[in-house]
Amino acid sequence: MFRKEFEPLLQQKTRVVILGAGFAGLEAAKTLKRAPVEITLIDRHNYHCFQPLLYQVATAALSPADIAWPVRHILRSQENATVFMAEVIGIDGDLRVVKTPAGEFPVDFLVIATGAVHSYFGHENWAAVAPGLKWIEDATRIRRSILSAFEQAELIRDDAERKRLLTFVIIGDGPTGVEMAGAIAEVARQTLARDFRRIDPRTARIVLIEAGPRLLPNFTEQHSSYARDTLTAMGVDVMTSSAMSSPTTASSAPWGGAAISTRDPSDEHRHSSFAIARGLPNCPADCQNRRMKLSSPRGALCSRNSLPKSCTPSAGAAVDGGRFTPSPPSRLEARSRLG
Ligand SMILES: Cc1cc2nc3c(=O)[nH]c(=O)nc-3n(C[C@H](O)[C@H](O)[C@H](O)COP(=O)(O)OP(=O)(O)OC[C@H]3O[C@@H](n4cnc5c(N)ncnc54)[C@H](O)[C@@H]3O)c2cc1C
Repeated sequence: MFRKEFEPLLQQKTRVVILGAGFAGLEAAKTLKRAPVEITLIDRHNYHCFQPLLYQVATAALSPADIAWPVRHILRSQENATVFMAEVIGIDGDLRVVKTPAGEFPVDFLVIATGAVHSYFGHENWAAVAPGLKWIEDATRIRRSILSAFEQAELIRDDAERKRLLTFVIIGDGPTGVEMAGAIAEVARQTLARDFRRIDPRTARIVLIEAGPRLLPNFTEQHSSYARDTLTAMGVDVMTSSAMSSPTTASSAPWGGAAISTRDPSDEHRHSSFAIARGLPNCPADCQNRRMKLSSPRGALCSRNSLPKSCTPSAGAAVDGGRFTPSPPSRLEARSRLG
């Protein structure tokens, strides 16, 4: 059985195009399994990424393949679904097509489920030195940075530089920041503890910075205290009420004299600092250019009515942090819109 809101789609074979093979996009596709529709699922990757375990890839506890499943495999028994790996670069509501470099896809009903992008709290220049953690590429980049920092520290004789290399800064109070801080502490204090000769990885400094007064603000105060106490016991410096001004210069760092900095942003091996930032809704480029706004507090839902003309035909959007609530057209409405 599929949901009531999809009932209009029963009446004819409608071309449903779903953008994004994350939790929301896959859920939408599976929900329509028995509907007489032609589903086209487009994602820039050919795999579904299980984001909650990205931090384990970033800290070398898991390999990328452990958290990525081929979208084709997931949907292979669903005959009304066709999968394409392509970057969606625009949506043309007048022509009723989704644009990709490989060509255009005609649309009757559009589901935008392209997730979220990083937010740097208005400091976009941080991105070069402080990658977020959202995709497998981010996780492997962070993993490379962490492991390279230990390797570089083993080679270097200068104490100050070694200290800098063995300082890891995580910006952000959410579950991912907390998980990352704990995981790096484990890597330093346990996994790598006996693998080096000239450095002691256990001396690595792990700093978790949060502008707000407590960790995990979306959880109870009890949870916040528990997280703080646990991280502190693991040797993580938890710095709450500490707004980060710039991760690129030691002088502006809020922890006084300690030289926690990164050098040349282009030199990946020098990075010992990264940010876990909060997300913002992600829309294909053309929608963004046309100032597509997503409604609801967490950018959760964008119904057909809240989309700009450029994003019609009929569209529903499931944006990271939100629920999938499509707004299908009535038959009459759809006919008049589709000509
Ligand atoms: C590090 C981390 C840890 C998390 N931990 C938890 C947790 O413990 N518990 C929990 O409940 N939630 C957690 N979340 C949140 C959860 O993973 C997200 O809420 C969820 O993945 C959102 O699903 P989505 O389908 O909206 O977006 P996504 O899963 O982000 O999927 C969006 C898809 O759209 C594709 N896409 C985007 N733009 C384009 C384009 N232009 N062209 C083609 N394809 C495109 C992407 O490739 C991607 O496959 C975590 C998130 C992160 C990043």
